[in-house]
Parts: sequence; structure tokens; C-alpha cells
Amino acid sequence: MIHVKQHGPVTGFRLARTLLGRGRYFTACFHLDGLMVDSGCQHTVPELLAALESLPVHSVLTTHSHEDHVAGNLPLMRLRGARVYAHALAVPLLRGEIPRPPLMPYQKVLWGWPATCQAQEAPEYLETERYRFDVLHTPGHWPDHICLYEPRQGWLFCGDAYVGGRDRGLRAGYDVWGIIASLKKLAALDISRLFCGSGSVVENPARELADKIAYLEDIGQKVLALHGQGWPVRRIRKKLLGGRQQIDYFTQGNFSGENMVRSYLADSPWKPAAQ
Ligand SMILES: [Zn+2]
Repeated sequence: MIHVKQHGPVTGFRLARTLLGRGRYFTACFHLDGLMVDSGCQHTVPELLAALESLPVHSVLTTHSHEDHVAGNLPLMRLRGARVYAHALAVPLLRGEIPRPPLMPYQKVLWGWPATCQAQEAPEYLETERYRFDVLHTPGHWPDHICLYEPRQGWLFCGDAYVGGRDRGLRAGYDVWGIIASLKKLAALDISRLFCGSGSVVENPARELADKIAYLEDIGQKVLALHGQGWPVRRIRKKLLGGRQQIDYFTQGNFSGENMVRSYLADSPWKPAAQ
């Protein structure tokens, strides 16, 4: 299933595998001026290629190596001659020089296994015919996460560094303190339009970003305080994030409130020092 929407010169694509007549867990990518930002999952490659038929694709910028953002890379390279760029940390994995960690059943069902391709390290600045983007390292959601910022237009393509909402769960391996630090880095930019990895496009997102940072920091302080009082992870999750969510069961606990609590407790270079 693919939804296409125009945002001025930017074309947004929301993609999902269709199961039982509905698109499930949409991922997004964007096209402008010959550049693709991300390329969706394996199950939606044919739909994306068809939708891009009449558009030039000279390069693909991969915001991060997650399986739902990279699967169009190889076909766009082979069929359209595109260059694929990613953060240096993502390059060996995208090339297949190091193995991709095994996918869980829900990841295979929803998104599928992406093929490897000869990705290269993204430069500090990425230029298209009309635009010049700063490539910003924004770890937390994943260590190899980058965002694209066009300062003259005020556009930010933020991948999964910000997908809106008030998180009540996180996938195992996320660094929530890194997520907060990266959001602060993004909030310091002058952004008029934010293009999220969920497909949402937010006008003047300063307030939303500030709210998200405040929310995550507030939960973090409470998690650390309760943990300091000896509360176990499950009890902290119940108190601060509520009951187990459907996604927790569906992902066999991979995406859960308890993993969000654990992320606050784990070591991180961005974790505030103990009081
Ligand atoms: Zn991701």
C-alpha cells in the first residue's frame, strides 16, 4: 500500500505491507530534486519503484540502517543509477560487510529482509541541483542515525529521530538519553517544516519538539528517582507508562514500556550524572 502526497516541491510516500486489507505500520520516504530520503521496506519496493517512475533519482540518503528504511536502496542503485549515502557506522552493515542482526518474526512479516548494496559514507553537506543540506548525526534512535537540514528553506528530514506522540514504549537497543540529546540538537535549528520518518509533515515544529523533550526528560527523572528507591522495572513501567500495550505483545516484548524504562537506566554518554 502506498500513499503519495505533495508538500510543495517535496513528494512524500507512506508505505506499508497490506495485511487483511489494511496497511500495517507505515514507514515513509521523501523525494525532492532528484534525492530520495530513505527507501522503505522490502515488501513495498515494487510500489515505490512504480511511483518513482516519472521522477529523477540521482541519490538516496539513508537516515539509518533499520530494515524499514533501506530496502529500495539496491533497486534504485541498479535500475536508476542512484548513489546511496549513509552514516559511516551504517555503511558496513548496508554493504553486507558485517551481518545485519537477525530480524524478529514481526519485523519479517511487516517489513522483510532488505538486500545489501554498495552504500557510501554521506558527506558533511549533500547538494542537489537546487538545495544544499547539512548532514547531522543524531544518534539515540539508532547509533547510525542522521538527519538532513536545508537551512535556507528551513526543512528538516528527521527520519525516526522524531515521529511525534508521547512514547509509552521503545524498541530494545534504543538510547533514550541519546534521543533526547539529538532532539535538543534539532530543536536549536530554525525549522519551518519537519518531514518525519512516520510520514507526518509538521509546520513550525518548535513547540512540538520542545514538548517531546520535556515529556521524555520528565519521565526520565521519575524513572531514575523510582529506581533509586529500589522499584523494579515492571512496577516503574506500570506507574509511569501504564499497562502493557498491544504492540508489546505483537512484537514479543521487543517494543515495550519496560524496554523504555530499561533504556533510561542503561549506561549512555548522554545520561545525566547521578545527583
Ligand atoms: Zn528506525
